Amino acid sequence: MNALRVNGCQSCGFLEINDDPGHILTTDFHTLSLATDQLYLGRAYLTLGRYASKISDLTGDESSDMWDIIKRYELATAQTYGAAHLTIATLMNNAYKSPNPQPHVHSHLRPRYTNAPNIGGAIFEDPNFGEHYIRNRSHNVAPEFLHEIAQPLRALMAN
Ligand SMILES: [Zn+2]
Repeated sequence: MNALRVNGCQSCGFLEINDDPGHILTTDFHTLSLATDQLYLGRAYLTLGRYASKISDLTGDESSDMWDIIKRYELATAQTYGAAHLTIATLMNNAYKSPNPQPHVHSHLRPRYTNAPNIGGAIFEDPNFGEHYIRNRSHNVAPEFLHEIAQPLRALMAN
């Protein structure tokens, strides 16, 4: 992907990482990758592959790619880990805390669970199914484990 990069933009920096253990999918328009915090198993960032500051700046192709990935990720997390549904949030509030805001369109995807997935003995219990996700707790996982969580999702999303 050859696209504008903005200096100091966290999302742009993230797109430059080549050996991300949580990487799931890169399309012509987006990158989908797991967050280190897996409090909600499968929590991922969906990042636009170029700098754009508003959802309304997305092209038609970018918009449909975004929703296509979200729909496929909902199915992949349901099939792999039994997710009941997927919450999505395009926030970008943090960027505006800076005196020089550089918001870069990206979304937070959090699968939600009624039954706690168990991966090799590690339990990922949704702390508050049926409620807005919480942000005052985390369940950070090591890069090797992130890779293990990502693998089946990557395989499904590749199809
Ligand atoms: Zn950026």
